[in-house]
Amino acid sequence: MAKAQATYAGPAGHEAAARRARHHLIQPWESLERLGRKERTVVERAEGVYLYDAQGQRLIDGPGGMWCVQVGYGRPEIGAAMAAQATALPYNSPWYTTNGPAAELGARIAALTPGDLNHVFFTTGGSTAVDSALRFVQFYNNYLGRPEKKLILSRVNAYHGSTYLSASCSGKERDRNYFDFATDQVVHLSAPNPFRRTPGTSVEAYCDLLVTELEDKILELGPRRVAAFIAEPVLASGGVIIPPPGYHQRTLELCRKYEVLYISDEVVTAFGRLGHWFASESVFGIVPDIITFAKGVTSGYTPLGGLAISDAVLAQVSGADNPGSVYANGFTYSGHPVSCAAALANLDLIERDKLLAHVREVGPYLQQRLAELGDLALVGEVRGMGLMSCVECVADRHSADPLTLDKAVGERIDKHCQALGLLVRPMINLCVLSPPLVIDRAQIDTLAEILREGIVRTMDDLQREGLWQPG
Ligand code: PLP
Repeated sequence: MAKAQATYAGPAGHEAAARRARHHLIQPWESLERLGRKERTVVERAEGVYLYDAQGQRLIDGPGGMWCVQVGYGRPEIGAAMAAQATALPYNSPWYTTNGPAAELGARIAALTPGDLNHVFFTTGGSTAVDSALRFVQFYNNYLGRPEKKLILSRVNAYHGSTYLSASCSGKERDRNYFDFATDQVVHLSAPNPFRRTPGTSVEAYCDLLVTELEDKILELGPRRVAAFIAEPVLASGGVIIPPPGYHQRTLELCRKYEVLYISDEVVTAFGRLGHWFASESVFGIVPDIITFAKGVTSGYTPLGGLAISDAVLAQVSGADNPGSVYANGFTYSGHPVSCAAALANLDLIERDKLLAHVREVGPYLQQRLAELGDLALVGEVRGMGLMSCVECVADRHSADPLTLDKAVGERIDKHCQALGLLVRPMINLCVLSPPLVIDRAQIDTLAEILREGIVRTMDDLQREGLWQPG
C-alpha cells in the first residue's frame, strides 16, 4: 500500500499547523492560563514504534499514543480494512439496523472475555464505555426495584474518563479542580499503592487494610445503597499503581458478599498490554460482572470502546419475564462499521504477530531495564507490569517524599528525552511508559538509555538551579 501523504508538507506547513493549533485548538487538559502559548510537538507521521516530528526527528513513542497503539503505527492491513469498509458501508444506524463488522467483533470479544461476559455494548471510546457501564448499573437497580442502591465506589488516583459520571469516579487530585462532580453518587477509597504504604507495614498487612477499608465502607454506607465498585486492574494514569497480591480476588469476594457489581475498567489493560486479551482473569484471577474496554481494541487507529456484561447480570433484566426493560442508552456511532472493521483487522494482527506471547517475553525485559534506573538519586520507585511502567521521582528517596520542589520534573525529563529521541508521558513527578506492543529488545535498550540520560540531565539542572540535592 502506498505511504499515506502527510496533511502538511514542507516546513511552512508545519509551522502553520503549530500556529493554528496554538490559536484555535483547545487540547485535553489545556492550561487556559497558557492558552495560545504552549508549544506542542507536531507529529507528522509514524511507523512501528516511532513518531517523526515536523523536523523529521525520530522519537520512540514511549506512551504508545495514550496506552493504545498496540500493533504499532503504519500497519497497512488496518488502513486497508478501514478503506474497504468506508467504501462498502461507512455508516448504518445502530437503532434500527446492524452491520457485519460490529456483529463479528461482538462475537469475537465475547469469546475473549472471561466467564459468561457474552454481550457487548459498543461506544465511542473509554469514557463513554465507563459511563454506559455506570448507567447500566443505575438502570439495573432501578428496574429491579431498589432505586436506593446507587452509590459507586472508586479509588483515589483512579482515572475513568471525561464524561460527568466517569470523571466523578476519577480520583486524581490534580483533576478535581474547578469542575463539578457527582459527589452524591461516588465515594472514593484509598489508592491501593504499596509504594505509599505506611513505613513498617508489610505488603500483606497493607492488603488487609485495603480490603478492610472496602468492607467497612460498604457497611458504613449500607450494602443496600452500594451499587458498584469500579476498578482498573492496574491504575494506569494514576501512575501504574499495581495493587498488592490478592487484592483483586478479595475485593471481588466482598462485592459478591454484599451484592455490589464489580466493574473492571480494562480500557488500558486489555488487548495485550499485560500479555493477555483481558487481564482480569488471566493476570489477576477474577471474573468481574462488567468489563469496559477501548484504546487497544483498534490500536488507536479509530475511536471505539465498549463494555461486556455477564449473562448472569443481564438475565435479571432481560427476556420475556422482564417486561418494559429497555436500556435507553446509545450513541450515533455505537458499533460503527469502520471502527469495528479496524478493530477486527487489529485483532488479526495481534494474533498473527503473536503479540500476547511477545509482551510476555519483552515485558519483563522492559521492567528489568527500567529497574536499573533505581540507582539514580532522583528515582524513588520504578514499577510496572507487562508493557506498562512508571518511574516515580521523589525529592528524598529515603523518606519517599514526592517531589514537591519542582512539580514539572516529569516535563523536564520529557524535554531532555525528546531531544535525545524518546517521547515520555510526563505526569508531575512521574514518567509513564506504555510503548507499542511490537517494541523489541534493542528498542527497549535505547528507550532505557535515553531515559537514564534524560533523568541525569534533569538532576544536573535541578542542582544547578538550587532546587534539589541528592538525598
Ligand atoms: N478508563 C481508563 C482506565 C483510562 O485510562 C481512560 C483513558 O485514559 C479512560 C477510561 C477514558 O478513555 P477515553 O479517553 O477513550 O474516553
